[in-house]
Amino acid sequence: MIRVTIWNEFYKPNDGKPAELSVYPNGIHGAIADFLTENDSEITVTTRTMHDKEFGFDNETLENTDVLLYWSHIVQDAIPDEIVERVQRYALSGMGLIVLHSGHASKLFRRLMGTNTNRLRWHEDALPCRIWKIDYAHPIAEGLDDYFELAHEETYGEHFDIPQPDDLVFVSWFPSGEVFRSGCTWHRGLGRVFYFQPGHETLESYYDKNVQKVICNAVRWAYRPNVGSYSYVTDETKAIVM
Ligand code: ZN
Repeated sequence: MIRVTIWNEFYKPNDGKPAELSVYPNGIHGAIADFLTENDSEITVTTRTMHDKEFGFDNETLENTDVLLYWSHIVQDAIPDEIVERVQRYALSGMGLIVLHSGHASKLFRRLMGTNTNRLRWHEDALPCRIWKIDYAHPIAEGLDDYFELAHEETYGEHFDIPQPDDLVFVSWFPSGEVFRSGCTWHRGLGRVFYFQPGHETLESYYDKNVQKVICNAVRWAYRPNVGSYSYVTDETKAIVM
């Protein structure tokens, strides 16, 4: 079985209600958990949020995670550095990592990329989005048509300050003229990282069958059991991580 942990900040502002609840009654993590378990019988899902022990990134959770899905927006900088470093070490040690939507601005993703991944062009709107398949041979694109469309998504555009991807799997186009490298992969240490753009919290992208297909494919791609003979989780490799 592939042990997937879905981490969503599930930020509760003053009214105590995360913004996504009107669209995702069980949270973004709940919606993703539903389609992953429906679509792939070899996946077991755990969900964590910032309200769990150690922001949801305690050692036991990470030790039992093959692939981590990460969605964040508001709390990007609130997670303490030592916890971010812990997640980074697991990712470098072979835990697959899928960073979703505004997770591009997270400390975790910035650390793993080494650039200011917070920098991109952006409009908070709900215009259509056309997602083009670029890498036809890539396992993450398997089963998808040449492109698919979402009726409403937030606009992201270049320049996106990421290092050159190992694989550029998708590029998104928006009616306002922007284009965006929306599906990218990298190898980091012993692990695999995938970034995927759709998923604004008040829009319905995680109910879209094509978005679900991409995320299911990405879990399979990022899953690397028995990947290596050493681990960045141990103190001995601290110098490499920093
Ligand atoms: Zn957003």
